[in-house]
Amino acid sequence: MAELTLLGVGSADSVLHYNTNALIPTQAGRMLIDAGHTIGRALHAVGLGCRDVDVIFVTHCHADHIYGLERIGSERLFAGLPRPRLIAHRSLESELWEQSLKGSMGRIGEGECSLQTYFDVQWLDDGERFAVGEVDFELFETQHTPGKPCFGVMINQRVMYSGDTRPLPHVVDRYQPELILHDFTVFESNPVHATLSQLLAAYPEGVRRRMKLMSYEDDVTQVADAVKASFMGFAEQGETVAL
Ligand SMILES: [Zn+2]
Repeated sequence: MAELTLLGVGSADSVLHYNTNALIPTQAGRMLIDAGHTIGRALHAVGLGCRDVDVIFVTHCHADHIYGLERIGSERLFAGLPRPRLIAHRSLESELWEQSLKGSMGRIGEGECSLQTYFDVQWLDDGERFAVGEVDFELFETQHTPGKPCFGVMINQRVMYSGDTRPLPHVVDRYQPELILHDFTVFESNPVHATLSQLLAAYPEGVRRRMKLMSYEDDVTQVADAVKASFMGFAEQGETVAL
């Protein structure tokens, strides 16, 4: 049975938990959901390196989700390894290359580069399903930074990986996931992540008991009792779940 390991569970400013990125070993190679700026150390912690990544699905263009792509793409290119498959919704194309990676990756000793120099790119349409080896994914749009495209995935029709987002009760209603790995922030004033009060208001207890919270800040212990009382709990760095 396929498994997902949380390489990190931290927010963008966490220095203790690595970026919220996940590893899924599949029959088609090792897949990441997102590759942020801590990906090299996070992979090293599980005995792997950037050259060992074969597929990356990108949820959205924030540094803690995409800046590790520079290392993975560059190290595999310079090692003469096949290009990793890069999967993302097509609305991310300009943000990902022109506005984020091109400044660092746009030119090498041999000349000018494109995203396709480094990656075998697969752009997805709204709600598209895709497979990586034996693992099935279905894309859904999330509600993160207003005006900025951001996506999550339903995995094998049973595990929901929210990506960065505020609560998505309509997605949970649609898929009825058995397990939900959901964005969370300690700070009630945070306008782009899911706060405790928002989660309590958006989801009934039966849903929250199937929900593990991730993408949290280092001082998350201040709400540990409240989370324990109303949710399945926190997702932990290095934790593995069956898919
Ligand atoms: Zn984000």
